[in-house]
Amino acid sequence: MDILLVGAGLSGAVIARELAEAGHRCTVIDGRPHVAGNCHTERDPATGVMVHVYGPHIFHTADAGVWDYVNRHMTFRPYRHQVRTTVGDRVYSMPINLLTINQFFGTAMRPDEAAAFIKAKAEPIADPQSFEEQALAFVGREIYEAFFKGYTEKQWGTSPQNLPASILKRLPLRFSYDDNYFAHPFQGMPERGYTEMVESILDHPGIDVHVSTVFQPEMASRYGHVFWSGPLDGWFGYDLGRLGYRTLDFERFEGQGDWQGCAVMNYGDADMPFTRITEHKHFAPWEEHGDSVLYREFSRACGAEDIPYYPIRLVEEKALLGDYVSRADGEEGVTFVGRLGTYRYLDMDVTIREALDTAGAFLAAQKAGTAM
Ligand code: UDP
Repeated sequence: MDILLVGAGLSGAVIARELAEAGHRCTVIDGRPHVAGNCHTERDPATGVMVHVYGPHIFHTADAGVWDYVNRHMTFRPYRHQVRTTVGDRVYSMPINLLTINQFFGTAMRPDEAAAFIKAKAEPIADPQSFEEQALAFVGREIYEAFFKGYTEKQWGTSPQNLPASILKRLPLRFSYDDNYFAHPFQGMPERGYTEMVESILDHPGIDVHVSTVFQPEMASRYGHVFWSGPLDGWFGYDLGRLGYRTLDFERFEGQGDWQGCAVMNYGDADMPFTRITEHKHFAPWEEHGDSVLYREFSRACGAEDIPYYPIRLVEEKALLGDYVSRADGEEGVTFVGRLGTYRYLDMDVTIREALDTAGAFLAAQKAGTAM
């Protein structure tokens, strides 16, 4: 079958590869001039540092199959993601761990003392719905206001009362000095960047890739099936209204040596206009660079011409999302995939797992003669 994949990010690339290996002819298009979507990496011309062009992407997973898959396409170097956060005129450890708690409260508590202390601060909210309720039930008001409230307002452009609890559930709370941002058993950085990894996934005689190629609705009729990893509402021409996304602006600047001492420094205060500063050279600690390139990251509402990054999933947006999802379920000949296609905040490993499963289900349906 001739298959069109719209979007050359992880979803489109992985599905195309699986289908091409099963004998289908795959065309992958992407409106941007490169593959790899928002995990695209390229060398900064001035410093030679490998830059995460659309913001920091750290590969971490508990899925051994996915870890195996990415390692077949790129050598992964050991990498341990560590983040710090600046609040007021102090720097604290992240994610919230025993050091953060002791730094913040000026204490020297042991793990069980800190756990009891935080338990007493946590507010008794039975079934937290919003980000704010989740945070108050998790760590109490003081930590919430210092580390989460301002950052989250800047990142999402709305009060944490309007955001789903699931966003906060991404972060751990540890009563130990473990400051590894991720707890997954597999974690690493692609030695030559994500773009080269995605190029390797797409490197198959059954796959044609066309970058700088914007999807036009009339293209779909030329293919037996379409996999859509563009915005879910975009497929329908936004006719029910737009789902909210956040987009990011990056302000690039150069530094010398080790400018900030870590890969990512968050800024918790609401009156600091950016959310974080990323120093890209720390993503490749095996490389040597005297010069440093850094990105200040600003978040704002995504306009029609902007690149969508984060699906906002406001509590009040659920009904509109439900309408689009039920229409998508009823569409024949098209499958909606990935972060934008399903309007979910997906990590890279989950995106790859879902792409592998979607391709598997498609191939099984083909074999059984049932349409998808
Ligand atoms: N967050 C926060 N303060 C921080 C770090 C994270 O309030 O210092 C909140 C914020 O709402 C963010 C969410 O936790 O969007 C998830 O954080 P994560 O680091 O997973 O965000 P990502 O790197 O995916 O942007």
